[in-house]
Amino acid sequence: MSSADPVAGAAAGTRRAELAGNLDRVRARIAAACAAAGRPAAEVTLVAVTKTYPAADVVLLTGLGVTDVGENRDQEAAAKAAEATAAGARPRWHFVGRLQRNKCRSVVGYADVVQSVDSVRLAAALDRAAGQVRDAPLDVLVQVSVDGDPHRGGALPGAAAADAGLDAVAAAVAGAPALRLAGLMAVAPQGWEPARAFGRLAEVAAAVRADHPGATALSAGMSADLEAAVAAGATLVRVGSALLGMRATLR
Ligand SMILES: *Cc1c(COP(=O)(O)O)cnc(C)c1O
Repeated sequence: MSSADPVAGAAAGTRRAELAGNLDRVRARIAAACAAAGRPAAEVTLVAVTKTYPAADVVLLTGLGVTDVGENRDQEAAAKAAEATAAGARPRWHFVGRLQRNKCRSVVGYADVVQSVDSVRLAAALDRAAGQVRDAPLDVLVQVSVDGDPHRGGALPGAAAADAGLDAVAAAVAGAPALRLAGLMAVAPQGWEPARAFGRLAEVAAAVRADHPGATALSAGMSADLEAAVAAGATLVRVGSALLGMRATLR
């Protein structure tokens, strides 16, 4: 796309205006939720989840002041991060999707934060990969399965020192030289009232912080439920469709 092309320029301007309007509305929702909870708005960071949308949208969003971007699939994210970087956009990249151990080497090439570590083995693989390419430790959030369902991803609160037990995963991340345990992440389970899900997450997070005081980040809340997440103490909200529009495929 050349900036001399008036059609592309007009289309980009239209998209920019659309994203700016959506961003204003999402920021107003976050501010209202913070005010209702008696929390300073600066405590909550907006992560724009750009999956299925092009690098051009990342460039527009960073131009509008968005500092953090999230992606959930490595192949898409790697290409998009390279393209956005080449275009001069430098957001913090969060990997928020299911992560396979054989993708760790790729993910550490662009991610600043990995929010979805949910097993001891994955923590070890990510540590090895991060140690090979990074000077500073990689920020990691341990993903929690709020309802304890082992099949949809997430470490299991209360589980003994198994590969996917939350305490074991948190300890593995905290003890990994190339990783920093920054906090926890969760998605509200289907069929759960968001307030109940995020309340449960907040309890689990308080218990993890008793052992790991630096694990202060709490990533919770998406387009539909960010208010409940902010009320429960979220410091990161991951917003996709409310910012970028409905995705063609539900993921
Ligand atoms: C897609 C996705 C989001 C954003 O979801 P929306 O409902 O579009 O806001 C947040 N977190 C994760 C892990 C996602 O995969």
